[in-house]
Amino acid sequence: MVAILGGGLGGLSTAYYLLKNNVNNNNNLRLLLLEATNYCGGWIKSIRTKDYIFEQGPRTIRPKGITGLNTLNMMQDLGLSEHLAPISADHPAAKNRMIYVNQNLHVLPSNLKGVFQKNLPFSKPLIYALFNDIKQPHKELQDDSIYNFVERRFGKEIADYAIAPMICGICAGDAKEISVKFLMKTLFEWEQNHGGVVKGMMRSLFKSKSGEELQLSDLAKKSQEEKWNVYTIKGGLETFPVTLCEFLKQNEVDVNLNTRIEEIEFVDSGTVLLKNSTGETLKANHVYSSIPAYSLANLVQKQHPELSKYLNKIPFVTVGIVNLYFAADKLVSPAFGFLVPPIENSPILGVVFDSCCMPDQNGTVLTVMLGGRWFKEKFGDDATEKKLFDIAMQEIKKILNIKENPSVYNVSILNKCIPQYVIGHYERVEKIRQYIQNNNLPISLVGSSYDGVGINDVVYSAKTQIKGDCIYK
Ligand SMILES: Cc1cc2nc3c(=O)[nH]c(=O)nc-3n(C[C@H](O)[C@H](O)[C@H](O)COP(=O)(O)OP(=O)(O)OC[C@H]3O[C@@H](n4cnc5c(N)ncnc54)[C@H](O)[C@@H]3O)c2cc1C
Repeated sequence: MVAILGGGLGGLSTAYYLLKNNVNNNNNLRLLLLEATNYCGGWIKSIRTKDYIFEQGPRTIRPKGITGLNTLNMMQDLGLSEHLAPISADHPAAKNRMIYVNQNLHVLPSNLKGVFQKNLPFSKPLIYALFNDIKQPHKELQDDSIYNFVERRFGKEIADYAIAPMICGICAGDAKEISVKFLMKTLFEWEQNHGGVVKGMMRSLFKSKSGEELQLSDLAKKSQEEKWNVYTIKGGLETFPVTLCEFLKQNEVDVNLNTRIEEIEFVDSGTVLLKNSTGETLKANHVYSSIPAYSLANLVQKQHPELSKYLNKIPFVTVGIVNLYFAADKLVSPAFGFLVPPIENSPILGVVFDSCCMPDQNGTVLTVMLGGRWFKEKFGDDATEKKLFDIAMQEIKKILNIKENPSVYNVSILNKCIPQYVIGHYERVEKIRQYIQNNNLPISLVGSSYDGVGINDVVYSAKTQIKGDCIYK
């Protein structure tokens, strides 16, 4: 029997790929999924009514790259093709992504032409950043913060106004702490191996491309033909984990809700005991952990304190989400929304204009994101939902000039919801997996703590981790 710990997207995807592997290899493996709460989907949660959808966690998925195409393959297999709502490259939500700087909203360039023009708050056309890169001397490093790297290669303005807010939007983190390898691994390698990004890019043009080939589903091909920028799911993103969970149940995966695991004991390389909160002990041959690294740290602490220590070194941040519904239509201009660079020292991270990005919304729907890396600093230890709502309203009234109050709102405080891939993260994960291998522990690590924080990364990590495990070959 194989146990899967956690029923968020990481755990569900692991069960899905194990199931597929089972069928392909004629295995008769029993799969047991263990989820602490009464819901499968983890942070993916939607509130839907006939007038609006409030996404409390993620809302858009990127279709591009191998991980994006892989998720689309899964979507088609689950019968979700007709439920997807794509945003193509020429949609206002794809073209109009803004930042709030010096009390003004500025649209970031979204095409090549824009790179040659001067766009406020940048003092020069962005193309000048490439000259900066060519001029910079070589600096040998193992890792660096993404902020330092971009400042060194392309200048301070790009680091402050493009990269720092982008990191807030992706992981609610501080670009001065997040590893450059999180988003710019190839660019960093070009700098390290060729002395600069432009130099490295020129050399790579003459090299043949290698990498995993993926068989594309019709849906994945369609996303390429129609040039999707991002997509959402009609009726809310929650449809994805809910459908995936149904698929697993129909295929005899034993899905156990309200089952919190409190301790893991490794007996030998093919036996592991999982103790749950009611004192019951479950026995498995292998366990896939998709729970956050800090939760797993607690479960292995007794038997493997060193492993626990490494796992606890992966930090997480708390995010406040304020969803707002205004009955009035078009209170904001058509755009994806805006992010606020940390240098502005605002209490909010950004605002998504959901009624522009998602279908079937009658009125104006906005989501304000707050806190992240700065949650405690801005809101203290006793942040209340009321406090977050008041701050969110005060900021959107000021920035978007909205006069009315919302007809409906929802506030969620998502405690330790996004892992931070700080400098040294990839080496730390390598060390953790090395420890597991050296000690022959029958456990594999999936989920957002290790190989990428987005939906596509989590799905793809489940696929690659099960492939790497010899017991299923
Ligand atoms: C606010 C927010 C916005 C986001 N926006 C986007 C976006 O727009 N696009 C995108 O691609 N990604 C986005 N993400 C990231 C995306 O949501 C995550 O990558 C993904 O949901 C992580 O899934 P997971 O299974 O790894 O973890 P989780 O969702 O954390 O699931 C872990 C599960 O394990 C369970 N669990 C924990 N401990 C135990 C235990 N001891 N025993 C049993 N079960 C346990 C939990 O209850 C939970 O269900 C966002 C995330 C957040 C928080």
